[in-house]
Amino acid sequence: MANDRGRLLRLLADIKDNTADYFKNPRKYLDALKDITTRSGFDSAGFVFKDSYERKELEAILAELTLLTQAAATTEEFKTVDIRSLPRIGKKMAESLDKQGIRTVEDMFYHFPYRYEYIGETLSGKKALTGVFKTGGIMLTKNRKRLYKAVFQADFGQFAAVWFHFSAKFPAGVLKEGEKYTLYGQSGTFGGLDSIVHPQFIKESEMGEIMPVYTLPKTVAQKVYHAAVKAALERYLGLVPDYLPARYETRYKYPSAKESLKLIHNPDTPYELSALSDRSHPAYQRFIYEELFYLQMGLLYKKKAYTRQEGIRFDIKMEYLEWIKKLLPFKFTHAQKKVMAEIFNDMSATGQMNRLVQGDVGSGKTIVAFTAGLVAVKNGWQVAVIAPTEVLARQHMANLVKLIQGTDVTAALLTGSMTNAEKKRTKEMIAAGHMDFVVGTHAVIQENADFMRLGLAIIDEQHRFGVEQRKTLIEKGYMPDILLMTATPIPRTLALSFYGDLDISIIDEMPPGRTPIITKHSNKIEDAHRLIADEIAKGHGAYVIYPLIDTSEKLDLKAATDEYEKLCEIFGEANVGLLHGRMKHEQKQALMDAFKAGNIKILVSTTVVEVGVDVPQATVMVIENSERFGLSQLHQLRGRVGRSHRQSYCMLITGKEVSEEGRERINAMCRHADGFRLSEIDLEMRGPGDFFGTRQSGLPEFQFSNIVRDVKVLQAARNDAAEVLAEDPSLSMPKNAVIKQVLAKKWKKELEYIDIA
Ligand code: ADP
Ligand code: MG
Repeated sequence: MANDRGRLLRLLADIKDNTADYFKNPRKYLDALKDITTRSGFDSAGFVFKDSYERKELEAILAELTLLTQAAATTEEFKTVDIRSLPRIGKKMAESLDKQGIRTVEDMFYHFPYRYEYIGETLSGKKALTGVFKTGGIMLTKNRKRLYKAVFQADFGQFAAVWFHFSAKFPAGVLKEGEKYTLYGQSGTFGGLDSIVHPQFIKESEMGEIMPVYTLPKTVAQKVYHAAVKAALERYLGLVPDYLPARYETRYKYPSAKESLKLIHNPDTPYELSALSDRSHPAYQRFIYEELFYLQMGLLYKKKAYTRQEGIRFDIKMEYLEWIKKLLPFKFTHAQKKVMAEIFNDMSATGQMNRLVQGDVGSGKTIVAFTAGLVAVKNGWQVAVIAPTEVLARQHMANLVKLIQGTDVTAALLTGSMTNAEKKRTKEMIAAGHMDFVVGTHAVIQENADFMRLGLAIIDEQHRFGVEQRKTLIEKGYMPDILLMTATPIPRTLALSFYGDLDISIIDEMPPGRTPIITKHSNKIEDAHRLIADEIAKGHGAYVIYPLIDTSEKLDLKAATDEYEKLCEIFGEANVGLLHGRMKHEQKQALMDAFKAGNIKILVSTTVVEVGVDVPQATVMVIENSERFGLSQLHQLRGRVGRSHRQSYCMLITGKEVSEEGRERINAMCRHADGFRLSEIDLEMRGPGDFFGTRQSGLPEFQFSNIVRDVKVLQAARNDAAEVLAEDPSLSMPKNAVIKQVLAKKWKKELEYIDIA
């Protein structure tokens, strides 16, 4: 003990002699102090000094050191500070907040309020009364419901506040006798008194305060949470790093990260509330910009890296193109020519092609891709054609076989339903380089096929050819050019965020000789029956589609089966086929073939993808429960008809009761034929989060931005990111150090296969 006291005194003397070092390395002194005090078993304030002068000094030093070490803490340390260290946040509350993803002070700082409340003179629409709390108690209503009634004394007399949901803690435990409160809420009368039901209330002294409102677990009170946020701001705001290069803060007049956080969590003037609420305030814009800037930086960096990667230089010879032209029964449209020029440009360059071809259903993407494939084959390379389903793979194969008939180009189909012996033989042929084209599904080709010389991968209808797929190819030692095709038109803003690492080509013109499809809405299936009867009398075919939603597959199958039976009664069993997900592959294929050949006139189907086929004489698309489909699905389905000069029809059948949104979708379908226009409407209606249906789609999740709302910022961020990379492609300039650091962290997984040293 005495020894420790001596050491303490020496340490204090030491501190006095080395002020500079003390401020520079506060942690050293704090650790030394703690070492002595804890080892000796006395508390951190060192009660060993009792009430002495030294004790006061020691306490002051400890407090100062604590502050100094906090200030000197690195950003990393601040990120790990547990919210439990904040006032009023106990174990239980921390657990609830944890479920919402709020664990550290950093989480707290970036969990923004979703709106603000200002309790001032104006309370739109609601009643506000001010009075002194007198008494409160539990009462029974006439029909024996329990309620808590509190009586207040106001200038004009008494009024009451009533709660039907209450506990011993609330509001009884909160209201203090003699305190003046302002209450606001729904007004009424109760027991002859002016009353407010389930009011919010604040102490009069708190009037004029701004309350941010957060998304919180039910058990966490806004006020308590906000108090903790305020404490966190006081302690740690100084440690918040700025990840946005200063030049952009200056360019867009954004406040710093620190200032922005303060404004967001603790605004001090009510004049800014509307701008804060709708996110147009610079404090919010700053974080939106920052997020989109790094998204674009990452995408563009990847894009550059692909093109830098040593790819194949295909020779695009005029004679190849002349040869291909002779294989085709038609002339290319202007749009097809434009897109092919873009593709050939990539193929003849050294870098790896990563191009996405977008075009409405039936715009002729497939033939464009096959043309690229034929050029690759002429250059001596193999081509993989990858489809999402077996039916589509077979259809591609059939089209390809037609195209290469009479040439020496070879093609093999490789799908899951082939026998093992067939697969083995085919794989050997592929590995030996005897097959120029290999057509199949994702799983089969990527996992099973070894190519001799894979030069081009054509990937159809895949929303995302992601890191994983690329990885498989690279691991197998291939570096093919990649050509993606999608019939889901993607609005520009979304394409920038989602496919920003790819080059995009758009086929925005339909092959000639197509008559626009007539789209109608009806709530009577009989209307559809009449239309089908008229059309099959002309020798045309009709689809009748039922939505297939996983959870109710049985119900949907039942509905489809019922309709199938009804149609059999009307049109004769021989003319109607039923296609559903539980059928064997061969059965499906046989049915599709019969429909294509015109042996079956009406195809009833529960599934969506399987009908991604080309049957030109089909002129009717009936979609049952169409309100249950999304816009892009509806558009996709409609695209299955109108594939020839014949007039085609799409009939959207709904129940009598349709939700507002369902009605909007149906209206949009009846009004618009253009897939891009529909996709924009879809995006506006559903928001970016749901656009692709699933989270697995790989669409980046945004913390602060909404790319529909923030289009302009997105555009600016894209331009700025491009500017940075144009000047400093490897991000090696000192002024871009922070960008590099953030990128390496944010895009760690994505950039794994790209050097970002
Ligand atoms: P997508 O893949 O874009 O849905 P497809 O490539 O399957 O479209 O083409 C749809 C149909 O149009 C096919 O029958 C195809 O042969 C035909 N087609 C493609 N391009 C042309 C063209 N330039 N002129 C006439 N018909 C075309
Ligand atoms: Mg296609």
